Amino acid sequence: MDTVTLGRTGLTVNKNGFGALPIQRVSREEAARLLTRALEGGMTFFDTARAYSDSEEKIGYALSGRLIRDSTAAYAWLAQYPEVLPIWGIQREGELDEFLSYVQEPPALDQRRLSLIQADRQQLQGSFCRGCGYCMPCPVGIEINNCARMSLMIRRAPQAAQLTEEMQAKMAKIADCLHCGQCAAKCPYGLDTPKLLEENYKDYQEILAGKPV
Ligand code: SF4
Ligand code: SF4
Repeated sequence: MDTVTLGRTGLTVNKNGFGALPIQRVSREEAARLLTRALEGGMTFFDTARAYSDSEEKIGYALSGRLIRDSTAAYAWLAQYPEVLPIWGIQREGELDEFLSYVQEPPALDQRRLSLIQADRQQLQGSFCRGCGYCMPCPVGIEINNCARMSLMIRRAPQAAQLTEEMQAKMAKIADCLHCGQCAAKCPYGLDTPKLLEENYKDYQEILAGKPV
């Protein structure tokens, strides 16, 4: 399968992207059928624009959810921990059916599922702030859940929203950090939160000074 890495984003996608301008001219159901086939067929890049009337809405309708690629693996992994109550985000009847079927026949944590979990872990480990906010509040009011992942957001989300005066003021608060360590102690992912904030702030300042992203 031919792939292409998009500039400096580190995102690698199938070399056939889906241009979603024409789906403005078909019904929502027909668009959903096409988009689902594209995704299931291996396309991983979908191009749309605010100016394409309802194109974004149709993509959202067709492709939302799907964050859990293999619910049996997720279920089997969490079933190991008797004290954990998983809360599955469900918005489609098919997703509900999947989890209901596990009530009768719980999937076991076999080698295939374990390998899937390990591959996901490999991808997501490291200094990756999930924005969960479990480390907050910060005694000096740093908005850690947004500021500690700014480098990621500024490259993956609409950039203008990350560069507003309000956001610049929030990032500037990182300079007030007391290095009390409260946040790192509460981060369930073991992140060195104060260091992560510093790194994100440095990157942010360089971007404000003109560094290309
Ligand atoms: S180490 Fe800094 S960011 Fe973390 S809680 Fe303390 S003051 Fe806030
Ligand atoms: S530093 Fe950890 S606890 Fe805080 S928002 Fe990021 S991932 Fe969540």
